[in-house]
Amino acid sequence: MRVGIVGGGVIGLSTAYYLRKLGANPVIIESSTLGSGCSLGNAGWVFPSLATPLPAPGLTLKSLLWLLRRDSPLYIRPAALPVLAPWLMRFRSFCNHADQQRGIAALAALNAATMERYDELAADGVQFEYYQSALLMAFRDADLAAAEQKEVKLAAASGIANGNPVGGAPGAPPGASTTHPPWRELDEAELYEREPMLRPGFRFGLSLGQDRHLRPESLTGGLGSSLRAGGVEIHQRVKAAGFRTEGHRVAAIVTSSGDMEVDAVVLAAGAHTGALSRMAGWPIPLTAGKGYSITIEQPANQLRQPLYLGGVKIGLSPFNGALRIAGTMAISG
Ligand SMILES: Cc1cc2nc3c(=O)[nH]c(=O)nc-3n(C[C@H](O)[C@H](O)[C@H](O)COP(=O)(O)OP(=O)(O)OC[C@H]3O[C@@H](n4cnc5c(N)ncnc54)[C@H](O)[C@@H]3O)c2cc1C
Repeated sequence: MRVGIVGGGVIGLSTAYYLRKLGANPVIIESSTLGSGCSLGNAGWVFPSLATPLPAPGLTLKSLLWLLRRDSPLYIRPAALPVLAPWLMRFRSFCNHADQQRGIAALAALNAATMERYDELAADGVQFEYYQSALLMAFRDADLAAAEQKEVKLAAASGIANGNPVGGAPGAPPGASTTHPPWRELDEAELYEREPMLRPGFRFGLSLGQDRHLRPESLTGGLGSSLRAGGVEIHQRVKAAGFRTEGHRVAAIVTSSGDMEVDAVVLAAGAHTGALSRMAGWPIPLTAGKGYSITIEQPANQLRQPLYLGGVKIGLSPFNGALRIAGTMAISG
């Protein structure tokens, strides 16, 4: 079966990897170069315990208050509001307890095999920078720490954070399997013992165990190399511009290099997936969230583990010879 995959980010590449393992014949169409989209500069955290759905009870009011702050972790471009209004209204309708529980259950099911799959890639010989890590969360404020702990407990109760009994020294490569509780509260002394680089003023800590972090561009690079070595057809700088359908089936992807016959199609175009889904006649109500990161190469000081700063919602990831700082969610339409 020839499966056309639109988008060569982490989603498109891993879809191609596992389709190939299942015996299908994937072909990747990437308008730029592999791994050059959102998958390039993210924080590389694989922490299922943080994977609770964005819509949550009370979020709308909280978000409005955030928008008043200069250091707000959320930005909504005012000029985009008329275009975003229907999506925001729909989003708001999911900010209730019942939908949050449904979202958590769906994410728990999606996350059930996450660690297994990453470990499988590493075991298969896909080369990428990959660490077994406990995330350290630091808070100046007791209320923020309690709110975060509530989220983590929700995830743990649903099984999101309980799937894989692994742990070990923070930052160590995955390997030894030991049991580790999904999270642990830390007092001020323990917090600074775990991360001496923290500036004074943080008083509450949470340590999330059993997780991973990786250097994202090394993962897309490793997947790309592995797919090429396996003979997978990859078209870079070729843009999907539409679809030719036959009944309910996509028969061909219309691209900037001509039509590509396929038996099935996977849309993995990140921020552009919503627009492409409308072209294919199966509209998905997606809007893009933009984030920012900077990477310091050869930092003078390095963190001992990935670190989350509560309140400003900034994530820091130590990599081999680099430190990445990521944060702020911008919804720009
Ligand atoms: C600052 C920041 C930090 C983040 N941190 C984390 C984190 O720690 N952990 C985590 O799990 N997630 C994190 N994320 C989210 C994560 O980066 C994304 O969910 C992920 O990279 C999405 O991958 P993707 O393959 O769907 O999209 P992308 O990587 O954007 O790939 C989509 C690809 O499709 C191509 N494309 C688009 N349109 C077309 C077209 N018409 N034809 C052909 N190709 C097309 C693009 O060129 C692009 O290469 C973070 C995001 C940001 C911004």
